Amino acid sequence: MPDVSPLAVAESLLAFWAEAGVDAVLLDEPIDRIEAGKILPPRPAPSPVALALAPRPGPQAGPAAPDVSAAIAQAQALAAQAQDMEALAVAIAGFEGCGLRFEGAATKAVCWRGALDAPVMVIGEGPGADEDRQGQPFVGRAGKLLDKMLDAAGLSGRVLITNTVFWRPPGNRTPAPHEQAICAPFVERAIALVRPRMLLLAGGASAKSLLKREEGILSLRGRWFEWRSSDGALELPAMPTLHPAFLLRQPGAKKRAWSDLLTFTERLDRPERPA
Ligand code: URA
Repeated sequence: MPDVSPLAVAESLLAFWAEAGVDAVLLDEPIDRIEAGKILPPRPAPSPVALALAPRPGPQAGPAAPDVSAAIAQAQALAAQAQDMEALAVAIAGFEGCGLRFEGAATKAVCWRGALDAPVMVIGEGPGADEDRQGQPFVGRAGKLLDKMLDAAGLSGRVLITNTVFWRPPGNRTPAPHEQAICAPFVERAIALVRPRMLLLAGGASAKSLLKREEGILSLRGRWFEWRSSDGALELPAMPTLHPAFLLRQPGAKKRAWSDLLTFTERLDRPERPA
């Protein structure tokens, strides 16, 4: 057996882990940092608008996660103030209410890329390592596949691409529903500002969060749903489809995603009936 130094062994093990996607140190058991009260760093007192928007517990309510509802209220207030996408990106970058920002995997907020007047908004789950590094969504391997598929479907240049959360989850885990709920006012405001005609929801975590559905992606994909803004003012057709990262692992599923895209594009390009 060749003489291999412990350093070479350690380096080769690290390279193997990195190749396998292990790039953050996690514990076996998840820590509920909200419960532990560690999620938010000290921050200024919420504005009067945020306080006014914060849901108040009823007389019977128990000690329900106060940080989440306060963070949602703060996100709603900040999002409502943003009059364009540039201001919205600034508001997101300054927002400290989402715990993902402080979990060690995210170095910056990753907002969106694409046309700010796009007829289609593609909403994925959350940024990965490449996205965090480059500050743009879907720029890694999954993003390259997404771009190829959008291009082949005639959608390139006609999409704005974003995610349900704006900070990279550690270990690329799926964002938790409360993290998505905290970021949702910004996603909703982006939809209101861009005014796309349709939403394409990439992956189960995106579909469940945007559509408030419980079914798995294999049952949701390829079907039309109606997305509604929380105030009911906006309604848009939305279609869930398979996440490109899933397609990289299961290439046999590509034909289903392709069929979803064709159905989606057919409706987008269908001439409107005269009123
Ligand atoms: N996966 C996602 O859901 N979003 C990204 O931006 C990248 C990978």
